[in-house]
Amino acid sequence: MTFETTGSGPAPSTQSGDVLLKIENLVKHFPVKSSKLITREREFVHAVEDVSLEVRQGETLGLVGETGCGKSTLARCVARLYPVTGGKIFFDGRDITSLSPRKMRPLRRDIQMIFQDPYGSLNPRRRVGSIIGDPFAIHRTAKGEDRKSKVQHLMEMVGLNPEHYNRFPAEFSGGQRQRIGVARALAFSPKLIICDEPVSALDVSIQAQILNLLSDLQRELGLTYIFIAHDLSVVRHVSNRVAVMYLGRIAEQAPSEEMWNHPRHPYTDALLSAVPLPDPDHAQQRERIILAGDVPSPIHPPSGCRFHPRCPKARQTCVSTEPELITRLGDDAGHIAACHFPVEDGEDISLSTPAIAEDQRVVESGLIAGA
Ligand code: SF4
Repeated sequence: MTFETTGSGPAPSTQSGDVLLKIENLVKHFPVKSSKLITREREFVHAVEDVSLEVRQGETLGLVGETGCGKSTLARCVARLYPVTGGKIFFDGRDITSLSPRKMRPLRRDIQMIFQDPYGSLNPRRRVGSIIGDPFAIHRTAKGEDRKSKVQHLMEMVGLNPEHYNRFPAEFSGGQRQRIGVARALAFSPKLIICDEPVSALDVSIQAQILNLLSDLQRELGLTYIFIAHDLSVVRHVSNRVAVMYLGRIAEQAPSEEMWNHPRHPYTDALLSAVPLPDPDHAQQRERIILAGDVPSPIHPPSGCRFHPRCPKARQTCVSTEPELITRLGDDAGHIAACHFPVEDGEDISLSTPAIAEDQRVVESGLIAGA
């Protein structure tokens, strides 16, 4: 699926803008019940592992990866919906990692989320005016006619008819319901909006409308977004920079077009090869990279590079040594990739053959029962 939108894409890159959000070595583990009966050892899902990121004021950072790669968990840690296991989160220059709920409360106005499912995230029994007015009620900043006029103004901003204030969510289409979610997020002119797969539940034509709305609002209001998606073509359209996650870690990070044109991590290359191209000639020339096996268990992630059981370029070094996230010679300074053997421009990695023991690959990718 490719995107033809009428909007003008993300706001211009703000590399010189102030850092609004800084994440340092963030770790999030979830305890799980062990399947082994005779053990006292607790097991953990390693959902996010040692992630460091910066988001500058007025920009959009796209966060991409397969389901279960940790991108939504990372977003929820930033919004302080989950406590973190380790690392630091700085927002607007302030360490918010361990703020108490009371101290976090005023900051909640500045960090808002838009959720994936416009059908499930709205209470079907409540009127739209009341749903959008929630933030004003919770923070006790407006009531009565004042709240109503603020809500109707927000409805206008997102392209909803303010006269539909008293309708129920079921009376709106999917795209309109997502606009309701956007309006609610905008109530307090937040500094950061985390968009967690905001268009993946919508039809393609409606997706483009919501993406354009988000871009327009960003330009008008100077918003900063973290935009989560599993579809790279969506992320390319809306993001200034993109970070690709694999099994809880950042695999690669770069300005959007740089990532699109010069992927260095084999995983990014494989994701890009799956994006349909509008030009049939170009599409015919490109080889789809099929990755071996499934994503390994985040309870027992593979040693060394976590991608090695599925990587066409894997070597023995990849099994034993974890690659650092660094910039390669000649790349854009903001382009970092965690790979010992990065992809060269023009290289076709579908022709590569991994040079590690096959049984090791199979065991670590979890293809053998009980492995
Ligand atoms: Fe593949 Fe090795 Fe690079 Fe990991 S470090 S992505 S296994 S080549």
